[in-house]
Amino acid sequence: MAEKAIVALVGRPNVGKSTLFNRLVGARVAITDDRPGTTRDHLVGHTDWNGIDFIVIDTGGIELQQPVLALGSEAEHGSTHFAAEIRAQALDAAEQADCVIFLVDGAAGLTGADEEVADILRRALPPILVAANKIDSDSMREAALDAYALGLGEVYPISAIHSLGVGDLLDAVSECLRKRASTVADDDDEEMRVAIVGRPNVGKSSLLNRLLGEERAIVSERAGTTRDALDTHIRWHNLPVTLIDTAGIRRRGKIVPGVEKYSVIRAMRAIERTDVALLLVDAVQGLTEQDEHIAGYVVDASRSLVVVVNKWDAVERETHTMHEMEAHIRARLNFVPYAPMIFISALSGQRIHLALETAHRVWQARFLRIQTAALNQLIRDALQQHAPPSRGGRSLKVRYAAQVAVNPPLFLFHINDRRLLHFSYARYLENRIRDVYDFVGTPLRFSFRESTE
Ligand code: GDP
Ligand code: GDP
Repeated sequence: MAEKAIVALVGRPNVGKSTLFNRLVGARVAITDDRPGTTRDHLVGHTDWNGIDFIVIDTGGIELQQPVLALGSEAEHGSTHFAAEIRAQALDAAEQADCVIFLVDGAAGLTGADEEVADILRRALPPILVAANKIDSDSMREAALDAYALGLGEVYPISAIHSLGVGDLLDAVSECLRKRASTVADDDDEEMRVAIVGRPNVGKSSLLNRLLGEERAIVSERAGTTRDALDTHIRWHNLPVTLIDTAGIRRRGKIVPGVEKYSVIRAMRAIERTDVALLLVDAVQGLTEQDEHIAGYVVDASRSLVVVVNKWDAVERETHTMHEMEAHIRARLNFVPYAPMIFISALSGQRIHLALETAHRVWQARFLRIQTAALNQLIRDALQQHAPPSRGGRSLKVRYAAQVAVNPPLFLFHINDRRLLHFSYARYLENRIRDVYDFVGTPLRFSFRESTE
């Protein structure tokens, strides 16, 4: 399915990244937060402008591994760990994002840290838009001109707080993305794409190497573009498979020690490009909040999910441990109850064959299509067994349902009145469909449309 573009907000602390982020995606975040059982962080949001959907990532909100030093003086001299983190984020954004919004403080003027970030971005490929923030009134616009000294082209004066100039900036963003859209290749449904995602040290590289070492996996050479430089193409049981590497193992060694950390942008890029995500979880540490966030990204992108509990060899085992751990993880990932879970050891190779087998099962489920007559029968039965709650003497009627798309499956329901549709009833209908059809690992999308007879 189509890959959404990624727009990264980059800049030193306090220039207004999170304020701009909230401006751009605030409303959407609030809506998804309302969905029961979904966990969210506030770094990644979806938005659209002029009909282009895209993902916005606030790199400043990305958890720093190094202790945060006092903001200001030290960070600006560029010699501390802190500045190293900003550099790493800028580099990451430059390599992975489709468009970078480089934010500076237009009122306070440029600093050494701004220049450093500019140096990194200048050498990179994606379009960069410089926004001079905190230009709260027309009389301040002149101050924004300073930012032309960065040599990155046009400067957009904005006030994130007062929402001034943000529309012009977004016009420029959508213009960049429109150009990009014409260069991205079409989906290839014949090929199964699998991304291995997870926190640092959960065993992503180990799993990838294991999979490549399997005798069934034949690595095929294929010229790649910059975007897919980290992909590995294999044939597995004669099926073309692309393994999308988020651990960056091919570049290891090039990464400055101490700054390598979990990259939200790289994970998002991989999730957008994949069909199926293998989410690796460390069996010894158990499920963490970051694991939940990654699972949330996968679901939001309508990609399929397999939970892979790795390092199973290192767990002290009693009879019930596997069930207990599964129950514990499922309780926390309750927004994706349909995800299959496997327990492996990338180190010893234990049950490693399940990784691609399960990914394949889940991938096939994305293409499952229910015949319209069978679907309508199923829905009629469901309505009869458990009548929808009525409001003011009226009750929900489903006039007609059809599965209108695969990969991922999309169901269109014609109903009498949207106000009569409660979230929990939609969930009930989804569960009935899942009871009968094996959409394992795969999110289902629903569209409810009002229609008269
Ligand atoms: P971040 O560290 O880059 O994410 O910056 P924040 O979004 O947290 O903003 C840092 C400070 O700048 C906060 O006190 C904001 O209220 C303030 N700020 C953000 N945008 C504007 C703006 O457009 N005008 C003014 N005057 N202040 C702003
Ligand atoms: P990545 O950062 O997610 O790519 O993780 P790595 O593949 O580099 O693994 C991190 C560490 O965990 C390394 O020391 C691996 O040897 C170790 N490791 C990976 N898989 C397993 C496993 O299945 N069992 C055990 N005991 N250790 C593992």
